[in-house]
Amino acid sequence: MSKKIYIDPGHGGVQPGAVKGSRKEKDDVLRIALKIKELLKGQDCEVRLSRETDVDVDINDRCKDANSWGADYFLSIHRNSAGATATGNEIWIYSKATDITEAKARNLLNAVTKATGLKDRGVHKGAVSYSDYGVNKYTNMHSALIELGFISNDGDNKVFDETLDKTALELSKTLLSLVGAQWKAETVKGDVNGDGKVTAADAREALRASAKLETLTEEQKKAADMNGDGKVTAADSREILTEAAGIYGA
Ligand SMILES: [Zn+2]
Repeated sequence: MSKKIYIDPGHGGVQPGAVKGSRKEKDDVLRIALKIKELLKGQDCEVRLSRETDVDVDINDRCKDANSWGADYFLSIHRNSAGATATGNEIWIYSKATDITEAKARNLLNAVTKATGLKDRGVHKGAVSYSDYGVNKYTNMHSALIELGFISNDGDNKVFDETLDKTALELSKTLLSLVGAQWKAETVKGDVNGDGKVTAADAREALRASAKLETLTEEQKKAADMNGDGKVTAADSREILTEAAGIYGA
């Protein structure tokens, strides 16, 4: 059974979250949550969002939804707000979180630090009277609440916009690893050796495979089967060579 990842874009509807001018936290976090959902499509997991539109969902309902769905991991996405110079990413876990939950949160924070280059503000445990967020308290799986930069800081907002795709990708890969699944790279047609480009070397591999001189993995077969007839033949090799030469479709 595939693993279940629950993404909770914070706020929504009448709850804008933090605001800077016309910019609202609820919109930023929904944008990145939808991007993560799209990136995880076709991966070995199920994804569910607490909201996919601009609506206000009660915090208890978000948690209940994740609990009854049986999520393996719960990530709530937010953006921070403070004075204009405060910068960086941070992540919050339940006051009674286990070391495992903490290690998972650390991985997520490392992922966004890598993608954004912003300051690592650390993994924080809630305290009973302070920041023990409901999303961590009322969910019964490993969970965290991440703050992606400060909406109150123009520099952080610029980084948020410019690295949104990269941050979503790093978060997607990490979320997948947190539930014990592995990221599958998209197959590029013709890229038999998986080096990211289509060259004569790929055509040669396809030809060798068609002549049974080489055995390809299932992934490689998918990449090599240009005409989609379910087998790798000399015709596929020819197509790869044509594409490598840059005259494909000419
Ligand atoms: Zn928030």
